[in-house]
Amino acid sequence: MKKLMAANWKMYKTCDEARSTAEELVKLTATNLPADREVLVFPPFTALKGVADALAWQEGFFAGGQDYYIEEEGAFTGEISPKMLLDAGAVYGLTGHSERRHILGEGDEYIGKKTAYGLARGLKVILCVGEKIDERKGGEVEEVLERQIRVGLKDVPTDVAPDRLSIAYEPVWAIGTGEVAGPEEISAAHGFVRKILISIFGNNANEMRVLYGGSVKPGNCAEIIALDNVDGVLVGGASLEGESFSQIVLA
Ligand code: PGA
Repeated sequence: MKKLMAANWKMYKTCDEARSTAEELVKLTATNLPADREVLVFPPFTALKGVADALAWQEGFFAGGQDYYIEEEGAFTGEISPKMLLDAGAVYGLTGHSERRHILGEGDEYIGKKTAYGLARGLKVILCVGEKIDERKGGEVEEVLERQIRVGLKDVPTDVAPDRLSIAYEPVWAIGTGEVAGPEEISAAHGFVRKILISIFGNNANEMRVLYGGSVKPGNCAEIIALDNVDGVLVGGASLEGESFSQIVLA
């Protein structure tokens, strides 16, 4: 299974900035990208086409959409469909990110519909899950993860190709805070995620990637990526500069 090194640029970068960061990333990583790693960039929608074009001819480099709606087209002002993302060059879509759950108010049921819809429409999908700090302190980590995963994957066919569905474990308290989860916390959560996936998808789940996200940096990536059941990373802040994200990709 190839490790997936993913950049989430959130609401940062103009078209020109995004394209030039993508080009810099290719320049710094394409020739020495290990055969067992893939690179994925989630730019803002406006920059998606430019970034996808900059990555398109590089083996192992992909672009993705940070969000999408659960219809093909229609009167849904402000929304974008998987068809439009694919047309702009995206291969992946992201669902359940903590900022969409906790700032934009998306719930488990809607996230579940979105995950299944994106897969059905031809995107590869990364479903993000993760507990808030009070949930960790209250001993509810497994309960929260199990609910987010089971409801989030409720409508996904059990024979989905395992390379098309990934989970990103992103403890909310570690996102953008500089406070990375410790190796034991990451191992425990990832082992638990794998167990739930196996209970849903059987052996196929061993081929699904489970990414870690939350304050991944060039200095801590090698240790994190070496942990059992960590099949990649999803990086926010430290992915915005080509130089620092390339160090993460190659860590
Ligand atoms: P961070 O963000 O790397 O800035 O903590 C991770 C994410 O939101 O995916």
